[in-house]
Amino acid sequence: MMTKNGFIRKNSRVLSWVRKSCPEYIPLSAAKLLLQGVCPYISIYLSARIVTGLTEGEAAETIIRAALIMVILIMALSLAGWMIEKALIVKRRYIENRMDENMAEKSMTMDYQVLEQAATQELITRIYEGNTTGGGISAYIESLSDMLSGAVSAIYAFALMLPFFFAKPASHGGALSAFLNSGWGNMIFAAVLVFEAYTFSAMAKRMARIEQESFDDNVRGNRVFWFFCRYTMNYKLGKGVRVYDMYRLIRERYDKNLAKMKSIFMRDMKREVSVTNTGNVLTAAELLFFYVFIGARAITGAISIGDLTFYVGVATSLMTALRTISNGFAQTNRIAGHMNEYIDFLAIPNEKYDGTLPTEKRLDNEYELEFRDVSFHYPNSSEPALSHVSVKIRVGGKLAVVGKNGSGKSTFIKLLVRLYDPTEGEILLNGIDIRKYDYDEYRRLFSVVFQDFALFSFPIVQNVAAGVECDRGRVLKCLEKAGISERVGGLERGIDSVIYKQGDDEGVEISGGEAQKIAIARALYKNAPIVILDEPTAALDPASELEVYERFDEMVDEKTAIYISHRMSSCRFCEQILVFDNGGIVQTGSHESLLADENGLYASLWNTQARYYQG
Ligand code: ADP
Repeated sequence: MMTKNGFIRKNSRVLSWVRKSCPEYIPLSAAKLLLQGVCPYISIYLSARIVTGLTEGEAAETIIRAALIMVILIMALSLAGWMIEKALIVKRRYIENRMDENMAEKSMTMDYQVLEQAATQELITRIYEGNTTGGGISAYIESLSDMLSGAVSAIYAFALMLPFFFAKPASHGGALSAFLNSGWGNMIFAAVLVFEAYTFSAMAKRMARIEQESFDDNVRGNRVFWFFCRYTMNYKLGKGVRVYDMYRLIRERYDKNLAKMKSIFMRDMKREVSVTNTGNVLTAAELLFFYVFIGARAITGAISIGDLTFYVGVATSLMTALRTISNGFAQTNRIAGHMNEYIDFLAIPNEKYDGTLPTEKRLDNEYELEFRDVSFHYPNSSEPALSHVSVKIRVGGKLAVVGKNGSGKSTFIKLLVRLYDPTEGEILLNGIDIRKYDYDEYRRLFSVVFQDFALFSFPIVQNVAAGVECDRGRVLKCLEKAGISERVGGLERGIDSVIYKQGDDEGVEISGGEAQKIAIARALYKNAPIVILDEPTAALDPASELEVYERFDEMVDEKTAIYISHRMSSCRFCEQILVFDNGGIVQTGSHESLLADENGLYASLWNTQARYYQG
């Protein structure tokens, strides 16, 4: 259950985030609330003032002057409030953008092993769903403003209502008048207001609970919905959908999910309508009570007819204000819950130890890497992905890593580049545990082309240079080394061509093999002393594959190259080969020496592939 402290803590976290993102937002909002909150009461006062003036026979001139002053005042206040609101709209947009930026920045800088976890991915989905279904920062600010404007309005209304409780004794009306103007009468009136505040707050809480349950159901539902939408709308997936005639299957799953979402929607609608109806009946009953009670005081002469208009107006506004406070409070509380999930996400600590040692800058690229009795379990996985791996990697050489699927090759690379830290054992660079090095410096030693490399819908030049500033000459050279310069040269905008259509209407579509070559060019551009290629030729045609092999030495120059491949033939280009099986290194050596061991895994893998290739 939500305690008061919980409410204050949740909201102060959100507000301090808003203050950090845009310091002037909160003071500006407060000014607007105070200015705009008073306007309705000036109108109510104006109507009452006119009625009183007319009933008491005041000069028309006096009444008109008073009316003019108040109309001008309302206009001035509204104008000031409107100008502030204009500034606030821009700032709100800015805060929303900050939220997205912070999210993206955090996702890119958090420990990879945390980002990859299912719980983190679930949290990211909830935050995005929350933002798109009225739970984002704008909705929060809106409901908080509603709550506060309700509070400001209630304070004004309450202050204006006070004289009503101290009305002069009635001139007529006898017992009724005496009762209405007594302390008892006041208490009945106050009790109705308290009852009203209580019921509104209970209804608002119930409404917020319904909405929260609805949100939780929808997060799941929407995830499934978007999963299917991606299939139907993504042109790249469209091929598979057509070839396998998957439309009916997708449609069936989609309809089933839609039916479920519809029943949730209908259930929640019914619940919401019943709360709203109760609220409407209550509002009508209270309006009736105000007219009867305040009207009776007017009839008995305790207040004037002008006062009747005024107090009914103020009491009705007070009722609306109480309702606004209750709704605002419940909604603010609900949305603050979502925003806290976002703030929790930003606060996830990076647990990976970040050392301080700089890495040695060596012109001769004489780096020595060693795995010393390294074992590793993925989080939430009981089986080790690597167990007791010990190996020294020769610098300047070409190392091939081979083995069946799931034997631990990619995990070996992830540990080497410190996406994960070993569960046991240590990895050393020039004799020092890699955890002791400054992580950014250590990262700079590696260029990696992952199997699931990502190119962005940016110009090719930026994809290769991985940045906006770049050496265009070097970009061209790297594209040439990767064997893609002719294709890029043939494009209308050359290296400035944007790839894919998401980022530019004129974006060019490229094949998987071409994308892989651009990814290789990016790895070369980085000019890191150690180049890692994870299945770099998987998407290449045989001719391009041969070209990469033949020019491999030239491509990587003096650098240390680690080459993970299923094509056993690529191993011949490497002086040292590590053969992985079941999370461990079972053989090491050169192609010839490994092949000589006829009963070894390497020979068996080699012979199996050779059979297919030679027919
Ligand atoms: P390879 O690259 O040789 O195909 P991997 O290193 O990817 O093998 O996988 C080694 C083992 O670790 C496999 O059993 C695989 O299922 C498991 N594994 C890989 N990635 C993860 C992960 N993110 N979470 C849990 N287990 C994983």
